Amino acid sequence: MQVLIAGAGIGGLTAALALHAAGIDAVVLDRVTELRPLGVGINLLPHAVAVLAELGLHDELAANAVATAELVHYDRFGNEIWREPRGRAAGHPLPQYSVHRGRLQTLLLAAVRDRLGPAAVRTGCRVTGTRTDDDRVRVTVAGHPEYPADAVIGADGLHSAVRAQLYPAEGPPRWNGVRMWRGVAAAAPFLTGASMIMAGSNHAAKFVAYPVTPAADGTALVNWVAEVRAPASELGEAEWTRSGRLIDVLPHYSGWRIGGLDIGALLTRTADILEYPMVDRDPVPRWTFGRATLLGDAAHPMYPIGSNGGSQAILDAAALAVELAARPDDPAAGLAAYQTARLAAANAVVLANRDMPMDAVLHAVAERAPEGFTVIEDVLSADELRAIGDGYRRAGGSGAGFGR
Ligand SMILES: Cc1cc2nc3c(=O)[nH]c(=O)nc-3n(C[C@H](O)[C@H](O)[C@H](O)COP(=O)(O)OP(=O)(O)OC[C@H]3O[C@@H](n4cnc5c(N)ncnc54)[C@H](O)[C@@H]3O)c2cc1C
Repeated sequence: MQVLIAGAGIGGLTAALALHAAGIDAVVLDRVTELRPLGVGINLLPHAVAVLAELGLHDELAANAVATAELVHYDRFGNEIWREPRGRAAGHPLPQYSVHRGRLQTLLLAAVRDRLGPAAVRTGCRVTGTRTDDDRVRVTVAGHPEYPADAVIGADGLHSAVRAQLYPAEGPPRWNGVRMWRGVAAAAPFLTGASMIMAGSNHAAKFVAYPVTPAADGTALVNWVAEVRAPASELGEAEWTRSGRLIDVLPHYSGWRIGGLDIGALLTRTADILEYPMVDRDPVPRWTFGRATLLGDAAHPMYPIGSNGGSQAILDAAALAVELAARPDDPAAGLAAYQTARLAAANAVVLANRDMPMDAVLHAVAERAPEGFTVIEDVLSADELRAIGDGYRRAGGSGAGFGR
C-alpha cells in the first residue's frame, strides 16, 4: 500500500513514521521549499509521548525537551491560586514534555529521512486537491504531475487544501476575540526549572511561560504566550510565521512579576515576537471520504491551548497506522476505521478547549480580588477549590491537558 501524506508538520511526519513501522510505504509532500525549524514552544502530553516512545524516539525527545513537573496558576500580581503536578509527577508512566516545535519537527524529519529514505519527504510540493477513482486516488500538486496513491492523508494544517476540497463552503477559521503573541527568550530557571506558569485572566490579559530547553550555564530557553482580549478590528491573519510587535504586547504586562520571572524583561529580550489570533474551526462529522482523510489540525483545528494541538495529531497518526495495517487490501475501510477510532475524541477536545474550566476560575479571581489577595481561601470557596482539582483529575483521566 502506498500512502501519500500532504503536510510535513508534526502530524504528517509522525504518520509517516507510524505507517513505516506498520510496514506501509509513505511519501510526504510539503508546500514549503525548505523545512526550517519554525514556531516556538509546544507541549506533548504523556499519551502522545507514549506514541513517540513506541516509535523509538523517546531518548532523543528527552534530550531536546523539558519534562514538565508542574503547572502553577497565579493572579496578575503573582499571587498563587493553584498548583498541579504534571506528567510523571502526576502519576503518568511517561513525562509531559515542553519542547520547541522546530526542534521536534527537525527530530521527526531526520527520523523519517533516516528510516524511509531521503526521497520520502518532498518539499516545494503544494497539494491542491485529490481526485479519486475506484481503486486509486490521484493527488494534484501545483506545478507537478499528479501523484497516484492508494490513500491520501490531508495533514496540511489549519488552512488545509484537502479539507477545503471536502468542505468547500466552510469559510475562514473562527476567532474568539483573543490576540496571542508568542516568543522564546533566554532566562534564568524559575521555580522548579521545569514549571509552567499561567497568570491573569483571558478576559483581559493572561500570560503563560515554560522552559523548552534544559538549563545550561544558568539559563534556559523560555517559551511565552501572551493573550489579550481585543476588538474585532484587531483580528489579523492566522499564519504561524506572522511577526508581532513588542510595542503592542508590552504595555499589557507592565510590572508583572510571576513565579520569580520578570515578564517585561522576558518580552523585551525576545528577538522574534510572533502574533497569532486564537482561532479554531467547528468540528466536522466526517474526515474520511473513500481513500482520502484528514489528520491533525486539518481534521480538528483547535485553540493552541491545553497542550493538545500536537498531542492529538500524534494520536491520530498512531491510530491511522493501526487501522490501515489491519486492512492491507482495503485502504478505504482502514481510513473509515481510523475516523471511527479518533473523530469523537478529537472533536470533544476542540469543544473543551473553547471552554476551559480553569479560565472561569482565573476570571473569578480577577473579578473578586482586582487588587490581589493574600490567601486564596479568602477568594475562592472550599467547593470552588475542590472543583479545580476535580477538573484536573477528569482531564488527566481523559488524556486531555490544560497546559499550553
Ligand atoms: C510554521 C508553523 C509554526 C507553528 N508554530 C507553533 C507554535 O509555536 N506553537 C503551537 O502551539 N503550534 C504551532 N504550530 C501548529 C502546530 O504545529 C500544530 O497545531 C500541531 O502540531 C498539529 O500539527 P499538524 O501536523 O496537524 O499541522 P502543522 O504543524 O501546522 O503542519 C502542517 C504542514 O502542512 C504544510 N502544508 C500546508 N498546506 C499545504 C499544502 N497545500 N500542501 C502541502 N503541504 C502543506 C505546512 O507547510 C506544514 O508543514 C505551528 C505550525 C506551523 C506550520
